[in-house]
Amino acid sequence: MLLLIPGPVTTRPEVRHALTRDIAPWDNDFRVFMAHLLTRIQRLAGASDSEHATLPLQGCGHFVTEAALRTFLPPGGRILIPETGAYGNRMIRLTREAGRVAVPLPVGMAARTDPAAVARALADDPTLTHVGLVYSETGSGVVHDVRAVGEVVRAAGRRMIVDAVSAFGALPLDLSPMPEVDAAVFTANKCLEALPGIGFAVARIDRLLESGDNAGSWSFDLADIYASALRSGPGSFRFTPPAQILAALDVALDALEIEGQGARLARYTANMRTLYDGVAELGLTPWLPASLQGPIIVNVHAPDDPAWNLQAFVDSLKSRGFLISNFYNTPTPTFRVGCIGAITPADMAGAVGAIDAALREIGVIHREAIQA
Ligand SMILES: *Cc1c(COP(=O)(O)O)cnc(C)c1O
Repeated sequence: MLLLIPGPVTTRPEVRHALTRDIAPWDNDFRVFMAHLLTRIQRLAGASDSEHATLPLQGCGHFVTEAALRTFLPPGGRILIPETGAYGNRMIRLTREAGRVAVPLPVGMAARTDPAAVARALADDPTLTHVGLVYSETGSGVVHDVRAVGEVVRAAGRRMIVDAVSAFGALPLDLSPMPEVDAAVFTANKCLEALPGIGFAVARIDRLLESGDNAGSWSFDLADIYASALRSGPGSFRFTPPAQILAALDVALDALEIEGQGARLARYTANMRTLYDGVAELGLTPWLPASLQGPIIVNVHAPDDPAWNLQAFVDSLKSRGFLISNFYNTPTPTFRVGCIGAITPADMAGAVGAIDAALREIGVIHREAIQA
């Protein structure tokens, strides 16, 4: 079965194989392993050893995003969050539930965040200390220009938190020329092609030291994770980590090193193209214009046919060896296919064939898009 979902993704067998042994996370050997793993990740983020720390947090992407919001915004603190789609909205909710103030910036799902609009919003409201941006909006498939938005944030003297969860490992991230970024957060189970259970924040050390008791949570405090690593040594954890998942991530990083990040992005882009052009040839309509379509996920308009049924379609695809998302993320109905993970354009061509067969099986005849 190939997982064509935007995480957790299809992994290589050698990555999964790393789960097959018992590991003592409090052992000194594990600490050395972990310190080295953090260094590898820090390099991938283009971070500077003197200015940044790479902090692991057990759990999923929402956890490490919440930890970054809590750590760098004080209670009641105000952050501008471009409304880019499902994940922009999730950042807004995480902010509000943590007792911080999210000020949404209307963007729309079929658009890139306009740096000039961010600049205007910051100029209009001096109480906004931060901008929170989703790099690759997994709801829409649009990739937002973190560098360009970062420049206006820096010019305005404000700070930035980047949700790089579905970007990191494939889309470029170079934090060294981006001092405005307090933290970029991501997980192991998307473009790094490893397994779920661990998130990371690459964060600025000066800002961690300034953050004081902001977090109001012991579990979700990046500054405490940093302080604890200083006290107990690099690679140490405060609470039990998913040690096997980290061992698998190390193997996945070997694979990324061999492939090269540029080649990985090129493979994902080829996956996306194969799918995007392939479904169009089947008579279906991709949800985004080609100019906005990013390489991570593709949404496709549901066909305007009374026989259309997302779950029946998903089940039929599953019986053919391809698993896709079984929920809608867009205002009009679409199905969503992930282009990331240990999969190739040949796999995507297979998926296009399976989509054709699944539509026939569930009795869809008219494939034009459902109109809004
Ligand atoms: C997957 C994802 C997350 C986090 O999802 P979890 O299910 O909490 O791991 C956050 N942001 C984006 C953009 C994502 O794609």
